[in-house]
Amino acid sequence: MRVAHSADEIRRQLQSLRKSQSIAFVPTMGCLHDGHLSLIRKAKALADIVVVSIYVNPLQFGANEDLDKYPRTFEADAKLCAEAGVDFIFHPSTLYGKNGPAITLQAAASLCDCLCGASRPGHFDGVVTVVNILFNIVQPDIAVFGEKDWQQLTVIRRMVSDLHMPVEVVAAETIREKDGLAMSSRNRYLTADDRTAAIAISQALRSMQRLAASGESDIDTLKQEALTILANAGITPEYLDIRHPASLKNRRKLNSLRPARAFIAARVGTARLIDNMPLELTQ
Ligand code: AMP
Repeated sequence: MRVAHSADEIRRQLQSLRKSQSIAFVPTMGCLHDGHLSLIRKAKALADIVVVSIYVNPLQFGANEDLDKYPRTFEADAKLCAEAGVDFIFHPSTLYGKNGPAITLQAAASLCDCLCGASRPGHFDGVVTVVNILFNIVQPDIAVFGEKDWQQLTVIRRMVSDLHMPVEVVAAETIREKDGLAMSSRNRYLTADDRTAAIAISQALRSMQRLAASGESDIDTLKQEALTILANAGITPEYLDIRHPASLKNRRKLNSLRPARAFIAARVGTARLIDNMPLELTQ
């Protein structure tokens, strides 16, 4: 496994290899866990060479967010990557000059005026700007993203299709702890009590899945059930929403939305956690 610290370095390293081998790319912000490792396994299964980037992207953090305290654990990450058979780590200190990039991308409001886009203004502009830079540097054939960040996956799919980028976006399912909590680098902010409370997020999503499967189509009823589970754990969600998985549009009834996906973001202690699950209405 090789580690590159600059755009020139990784490009040089990949230059001759890309002539005969396919490249799969897994962008991350580090502090790797089993969720990231499942993306890496998928990447390995789909291409000859796997490149993982480890870069905490300042452009996707708001002014009062956790950029400074975001966990940085490069040594442990590099060890996990080596064990997982990663070929290259791209670990740049920055991707643009000190005043920020003069040219940026903007994600359309239609995809960003809801869910995390509404509560984190500018977040997805930061994501698409930096993922575009990373794609231009690595020039992968395939890029793997987690369903845990569903809105991010949706926005990136749209960027790739709107800008005709020559990369195939592959989704990987959310990896969870045994009790259902979606794995996240931010879970390490949780105290023992927070950790217990946080289980309610996946339980609330599962309760909506069960209700929908039993034929309940009224979205307010589904949400109310989930809100009660969250409230019992002392959690007031930042959002709890049900939307179309591709357009991210919402409706009042599940049967006019099909297919549908439920989304929750909530602050538990100092951690902001997100999760989502598909809803399947029987009938
Ligand atoms: P991050 O380092 O949090 O920016 O995440 C890097 C990639 O890993 C993104 O595509 C995430 O969606 C994905 N990811 C994060 N957590 C999980 C998880 N629990 N299961 C699957 N993928 C994940």
